[in-house]
Amino acid sequence: MSDRPKLSAVSLTTLPQRVKICEMGPRDGLQNERGVVPAADKIRYIDLLSASGLSVIETTSFVRPDAVPQLTDAEVVMAGIERREGVTYLCLVPNMRGFARAQAAGVRAIAVFTAASESFAKRNINMTIDESIAAFRDVVAAARADGMWVRGYISVAFGCPYEGSVPVENVVRVASALAEMGIDDLSVGDTIGVATPDQVIEVSEALQAQMPVERIAMHFHDTRGTALANVLAALQMNIATFDASAGGLGGCPYAPGATGNLATEDLLYMLHGMRIETGVDLARVRDASRFIAGVLGRDPVSRAYRALEAAAVSS
Ligand code: MG
Repeated sequence: MSDRPKLSAVSLTTLPQRVKICEMGPRDGLQNERGVVPAADKIRYIDLLSASGLSVIETTSFVRPDAVPQLTDAEVVMAGIERREGVTYLCLVPNMRGFARAQAAGVRAIAVFTAASESFAKRNINMTIDESIAAFRDVVAAARADGMWVRGYISVAFGCPYEGSVPVENVVRVASALAEMGIDDLSVGDTIGVATPDQVIEVSEALQAQMPVERIAMHFHDTRGTALANVLAALQMNIATFDASAGGLGGCPYAPGATGNLATEDLLYMLHGMRIETGVDLARVRDASRFIAGVLGRDPVSRAYRALEAAAVSS
């Protein structure tokens, strides 16, 4: 069939022409691994990822070393990576102490993180949502004064492992507080992978009443197979920044054995198929995934990765 139906041609022309991908593998991915990856392997992994054209890479986290044993080498990693021009190396910073460490390590982009449900905030960061927002105020102000790029994360925006459904008003309330601080980018996370496209549209619409769409990013997990459908729904809402993890690295911490982060390769395959530009070379992301898979000793869960590897074997 040479002619596609007119309807899909019309609806697809309104989608963003270019998408920015925030790569989550080195931080969100490796943090959710049981073992600790040596700093030299992390550095190699990050350099392979930056060689693919990814413009934002979440690199590490300046949290208390005992809180996240997988990422105690933040300074070593930041000092060891090749700082490629045009690449934003994003680092998680929970408080002023972490900020001072990040600043000393030459970090130019930071992220603060809270949640849309009280139970999750309590268990994950041991603060109420309001306490976390109050704690971020100084961090965000200091980062902005230093000219850093600032991202905010809202976890469990589409559902909570402790509270179940999360009202849209809660997401909007937290998002507005972060937006008021002057963050550059807000990542709205489906931490347990329960979102469906209708919900993505509802949340996107509510957020866009509060802040420019350019500042909104979506962070989907593929735990139940809905991540790409959710991306498409978000694209239809003009959202053009998505978080993804090379190879799908990082299981879902609340569903042992289940898939977590949307795989960068799967996202790229869909976007490039739809002729949406990303500036990212899928084959090079696969190289990075292959490298870290060797370090971790198991295959990536990404479907596009597996299909590419299978095609390479059979040809
Ligand atoms: Mg994640």
